[in-house]
This record gives sequence, C-alpha cells and structure tokens, in this order.
Amino acid sequence: MADDSQQESMKIITERAQQLVENISSVAARVKATAGERPIRLVAVSKLKPASDILALHNPSTASLPGFGHLHFGENYQQELLEKSRLLPKTVKWHFIGQLQTNKCRPLAEQIPNLWCVESVDTTRKADQLEKGRANLLASAAEAKLRVFVQVNTSGEESKSGCEPSEAADLSKHILEKCPHLHLQGLMTIGAIARSKATSEDNPNEDFITLRQTRDRVAETIGIDKEVLELSMGMSEDFEGAIREGSTEVRVGSTIFGERPPKKDAKIKEDPQETRK
Ligand SMILES: *Cc1c(COP(=O)(O)O)cnc(C)c1O
Repeated sequence: MADDSQQESMKIITERAQQLVENISSVAARVKATAGERPIRLVAVSKLKPASDILALHNPSTASLPGFGHLHFGENYQQELLEKSRLLPKTVKWHFIGQLQTNKCRPLAEQIPNLWCVESVDTTRKADQLEKGRANLLASAAEAKLRVFVQVNTSGEESKSGCEPSEAADLSKHILEKCPHLHLQGLMTIGAIARSKATSEDNPNEDFITLRQTRDRVAETIGIDKEVLELSMGMSEDFEGAIREGSTEVRVGSTIFGERPPKKDAKIKEDPQETRK
C-alpha cells in the first residue's frame, strides 16, 4: 500500500517535470526564433509554485529526465524566496523581481548568497539598504557583487512600482557612485497589461520603447556605452514583442508553470497526500 502510493506520487512528479521541460523548451524556442543569434536570458518566474517545480527544471535527474539544468529563476515575495533558497541547490541563480520594501532589502541581500540580482530597485534608500546587506555578506566570503536593475514605471499607472523615467539617471548614478557592492545591470519595466495584450508585430509596445529610450538617456548621462545596460522586459503575454524592442532578458511565469494559485493557497513544499488527489 505504502509502496503503491509512493509510486503513484512519483509518477505524477515525473509527468509534471516532463510537462515543465516541454513548456520551457517551447518558450526557449520562441525566444530564439525572435532574437536570432542575440543572446537573451530567460528567467523562469516561479512565484507561488512549489520548490519541486524549480528542481524539476534545474536538476531534472531527480525526475529521471535528460539534463535541462535551467539556472535563472524569478521570485516576487521575500519570505517565499528565503524559504526556497534554503531548500534548493545553491547553483540556482535567483532573481528578486517583486515589490521591495525598504526595511527588507538588507536581509535579502545579506542572507541569500546566490541571489543573482534584484530587479525592482526604485529608490536610493532601497539601493543603500541592499548595499549594506551585500557589504556584510562580502565581508565574510568572496562572493560577487549583487546585480541590480533600476525598475522604471513606464506606463505611469499609480499601481505600478518603479521610478519615473526622468528619475532613472539619478538613481543609476547613485548606484554607480555610492554602492560599491552593487553592480548596475540595467533597467526593468513591467508595463501596462492592456498594452501587453495589444502587442503585435505591427503594434509595438510603448512601454518597451519608453524603457529603451530611458536606457539610452541614462547611458548618455552617466557616460557609458548603452549596450552595457541591459533591458529586462517581456513576460508571458508579450515577450516576443519585448525582444523585438531590444529586450535582453525576459521573465516568463505562467507559460512555463501554468496559472498560479491565489497567494493564500500557495505551497512551497507539496504535500504528497494533496498531490495524489
Ligand atoms: C509574475 C511576474 C512575471 C511573470 O508573469 P507571467 O505573465 O506569468 O509570465 C514577470 N515579471 C514580474 C515582475 C512579475 O511579477
């Protein structure tokens, strides 16, 4: 009896892993078809999805699938990221892409050595707190600088985080000059949902154009080559349109992992009893 149920749940896990590998492969193929030879980083956005889903893509040998070894995963909630980072291999490269609270920046940068970047920096105070956290971590180990993206509110919606496009250069300058343990990786935007749904080959997305123009202005103001600054833009609905506007990194969640559960129902560790239902 115990054996049967164990096998049953393993089988479900294998099927799930196979599905995930298929989904991400198909997204990767669409990225490549749009970008050609230009390298694009694909961040698999795993928020509210169980750790086993991440492991299936990062280390599929656990599900007896040929190696896929996906590295970059995005999370939106601080506590969830902390828990997942403790459970999962240190080889995962985590991206924090959610809304940042100033008082949570320091522990985030300090407690997760394999936090690869924070994409949602929109004030100098948040940058300063991340700087302090990473400085503490680096004092004890030879880790890399923490990469950060300046999040820009390109759509002007009040509900969206991000600094104004006109503020991006000052914030970028602050990071470069005042935060020696941070590395300015580029700019990030989410954009308006309506625009993202309307994005097509004939109808380029204004948010992506605004982010690219903002990046060009920032580069000019701080006196660096604009190609050095990345553009993190594009999600499930609109990543191909974003790549056409110059995105270097897309963040794709539901097309890989399926629809997300409401936050209150999300589970980091899946209960096998539940899985079998
Ligand atoms: C959730 C989220 C994504 C992924 O969204 P999908 O539409 O599921 O692909 C990307 N970026 C940010 C900032 C997000 O919060």
